[in-house]
Amino acid sequence: NRRFVLAERPRGEPDDRTLRLETEDLPVPGKGQMLLRNEYLSLDPYMRGRMSDAPSYAPPVEIGGVMVGGTVAQVVGSDVAGFTEGDWVVAFGGWQDYALSDGTGVVNLGKAPENPSWALGVLGMPGMTAWAGLTQIGQPKAGETLVVAAASGPVGATVGQVGRILGCRVVGIAGGARKCAHVVETLGFDACIDHKAEGFPDALKAAVPDGIDIYFENVGGAVFDAVMPLLNPCARIPVCGLVSQYNATALPPGPDRMSLLMGQILRKRMTLRGFIVFQDFGHLYPEFARTMGAWVESGEIRYREEIIEGLEQAPSAFVGLLRGEAFGKRVVRLSA
Ligand code: NDP
Repeated sequence: NRRFVLAERPRGEPDDRTLRLETEDLPVPGKGQMLLRNEYLSLDPYMRGRMSDAPSYAPPVEIGGVMVGGTVAQVVGSDVAGFTEGDWVVAFGGWQDYALSDGTGVVNLGKAPENPSWALGVLGMPGMTAWAGLTQIGQPKAGETLVVAAASGPVGATVGQVGRILGCRVVGIAGGARKCAHVVETLGFDACIDHKAEGFPDALKAAVPDGIDIYFENVGGAVFDAVMPLLNPCARIPVCGLVSQYNATALPPGPDRMSLLMGQILRKRMTLRGFIVFQDFGHLYPEFARTMGAWVESGEIRYREEIIEGLEQAPSAFVGLLRGEAFGKRVVRLSA
């Protein structure tokens, strides 16, 4: 069993010293356990937080511990009720070829799911994050303007498409012309603005003539700076992620603008609410699965995935994800 363990906590961007590939004997399932062969490993921005021991909503990975991660796996042998050999499952199997599980939190996808890896994206945690954050905190109404960044990624792409279905005018923000073209032409957003292009704040302003009613926050940093002056009275801001900051080692330089932000929140009577998807909205999972399943099935919601071949590629693929190199949901296909 090949597995990546956390060797050292990174400062800034993870590097060659952060993770170590180890090989151990195949784990043997005990009573009430099953052995899972990981087929797909999800790469997600939150993993950067687990590498760090800064205070967070979840404990960090221990030094020497297997790096955590969502997986789609096949059951190899099982002593767990409801799971038999050959079942495909969604589990939290980590960055390794095989994992043991007692079935807690494991979802059974059956013997022949159509697109098993999609359970790590639009039909799983990122899709649920998008749907729940937008509907519960964003409270979209037809005719309103919704803006979302990281718009070609699994969360952002789903936020915008759900917003479009609910009748919003949807403007995405993404890095580069290729991603922006995909967001408009394939995902059906009304517009998409390149945050890396010259004059980004002005281009964003021109794309939201009626201001912004909902800003779904995925990235923070310079993108939020451009969004803030365009927010309308009573705007709602689901604070989902701040990926531009995850490798930061210090606060950004410059004047302290906290009082400016607080003044805006007060005068515009805005709602900012952070959330952690399953802690806050886990009870809505059945409704999500029904609703999103139907939208994906009918083609109303589209999904782009980027497959990386081989467990050994996972560390560099993860660093690239935080740099904005992923185009669509990044998953690693394992080949044990
Ligand atoms: P993505 O696959 O979209 O990856 C991150 C994207 O962020 C990059 O591709 C890049 O897109 C963009 N990005 C990176 N750095 C910057 C930067 N400096 N400025 C602007 N954009 C940047 O991620 P996900 O869809 O998986 O996740 C989106 C967000 O949702 C993350 O912040 C994540 O942590 C959060 N999240 C939160 C959850 C919760 O429960 N609160 C659950 C799941 C996810 P581009 O090239 O287009 O700029």
